[in-house]
Amino acid sequence: MDTRIGFGWDSHAFKAGVPLRIGGMTLDHPEGLAGHSDGDVLLHAITDAMLGAVSAGDIGSFFPPGDPRWKDADSAIFLNLAMEELQHAGYRIANVDTTLILAAPKIAPIAGEMRARVSELLGIEIDQVSIKAKTPEGLGLDHVAQCHAVVLVERVQEPDELKSMSAVIESQRQLEDVVDDLLASVHGVPKKRTISPVYDTEDIT
Ligand SMILES: [Zn+2]
Repeated sequence: MDTRIGFGWDSHAFKAGVPLRIGGMTLDHPEGLAGHSDGDVLLHAITDAMLGAVSAGDIGSFFPPGDPRWKDADSAIFLNLAMEELQHAGYRIANVDTTLILAAPKIAPIAGEMRARVSELLGIEIDQVSIKAKTPEGLGLDHVAQCHAVVLVERVQEPDELKSMSAVIESQRQLEDVVDDLLASVHGVPKKRTISPVYDTEDIT
């Protein structure tokens, strides 16, 4: 199986007067996360992990922080972009594992609901999404939320590179056919059969 792995990390400071958005959910808390978008630290880390898995850059290269279009944007938009990049590269998510680091609110009681929401946004099963949370012991970062994310992806279709390889093989076959026909007509040599694929196509759908 052809797999790749991606890692993402993000942090946002807590700020009064804005809703707290984590994992595509609005949480009941007196402060939210400051950011140009909705500050969803979990979705940003997952987005970067997905982009990283297919070497497609990072969230900042697609959505520059100063761009007014992404002011207060729902971070599900960023996730969608990363999903398109994954699909374009011919991969799908095998599983996602994340660790949130924040002093409050407590994530454990709502982790199940958050996993359901994130798996819905990603179009995968809930058991493919893990959300864990820790407090920032000894870091002096009680007013910051951080998130680490890793994403394993697996190949599902023939990417562009393999398509071009197929084209090369096809043109070689055509060339051999022409040569075989010439040989057959000139010397009466029977046609022989030719090139086998240079890669295993079994797991490519
Ligand atoms: Zn962020």
